Amino acid sequence: MEITRRSVGPSDVQIAIAYCGVCHSDIHQARGEWAGTQYPCVPGHEIVGRVTAVGTDVKKFAEGDLVGIGCIVDSCKQCGDCESGLENYCDHMVGTYNGPTQDAPGHTLGGYSEQIVVHERYVLRVTHSEDQLAAVAPLLCAGITTWSPLRHWNAGPGKKVGVVGIGGLGHMGVKLAAALGAHVVAFTTSESKREAALALGANEVVVSRNEQEMAAHQTSFDLIVNTVAAPHDLDAFLVLLKRDGAMVLVGAPATPHPSPAVFNLILKRRSLAGSAIGGIPETQEMLDYCAQHGVVADIELIRAEQVNEAYERMMRGDVKYRFVIDNSTLA
Ligand code: NAP
Ligand code: ZN
Repeated sequence: MEITRRSVGPSDVQIAIAYCGVCHSDIHQARGEWAGTQYPCVPGHEIVGRVTAVGTDVKKFAEGDLVGIGCIVDSCKQCGDCESGLENYCDHMVGTYNGPTQDAPGHTLGGYSEQIVVHERYVLRVTHSEDQLAAVAPLLCAGITTWSPLRHWNAGPGKKVGVVGIGGLGHMGVKLAAALGAHVVAFTTSESKREAALALGANEVVVSRNEQEMAAHQTSFDLIVNTVAAPHDLDAFLVLLKRDGAMVLVGAPATPHPSPAVFNLILKRRSLAGSAIGGIPETQEMLDYCAQHGVVADIELIRAEQVNEAYERMMRGDVKYRFVIDNSTLA
């Protein structure tokens, strides 16, 4: 379909989109699994490309710059969350797609498109080399959504960190936790990912369906980042936390997890928390860190017309580890 972007306002940056990652949130929203999808829906919030025009007041970017757009294209800019650089928690945060906007058709349209126009505050600088660009795209959501809790809960040397679900988010969680110096354990339901997860930088891999393997890690984790996109038994992972450990849910299934046993929290003062993407400054911090440390996503590049097949494969956990659309195939 043809869509029209707004003309470039004084604070706007216009971007020719080169690549866009395919996040499981795209599936939830395109299929109406979360309440409130507005159609036509143009998903995509792992956007990278080149600046093609800037507004008269834009200071940070110039035509030709390599940039990224993640999940946020607007916020109120004045609440405590925005002032803290945590626009992701602003009550008026506008998502890159399916968010409220004055622009036609009244809700935002995302990155499965050729161009986008975004206020400069929400544009990220990309300093990776251009040949890495497609593999940088997933950092804009999968990267920041795992980086933010890893940083907030102080993942690093001397810490034992688990990552549950080795898909798009999970594989970035493993890479980033390893880069930060933590001892990393990858939890997967897929026997086929056992070797592959080691190659991502995990120190150990546990196939979570295997009770004996799970029991060997009882009461030992400082932090577990859980990315699973479906309801499952949280107790199986809570009991792996040591005293004062935390499990952070970032996976956002359409229907709730069964409520965990309260005693699994009380008896070791464990926490069960959640975390949403990340703010703009920490997204820039993550991108710069990844550029310095040579971190990119492991991707499978697809043509636009392969997106439905990509969704089906993601539903089966059959992706290593992120599909990225080559947006030049949209035309
Ligand atoms: P993905 O690439 O499809 O990966 C999810 C992984 O979870 C799968 O590869 C699989 O890993 C595991 N899994 C899936 N179904 C499962 C099941 N029934 N039982 C056990 N494990 C299962 O998805 P993603 O893009 O990483 O997104 C993951 C979730 O995070 C989605 O719900 C998405 O909407 C959400 N999300 C949240 C935020 C946030 O801000 N909090 C941001 C982005 C995305 P194994 O094969 O290793 O078991
Ligand atoms: Zn996403």
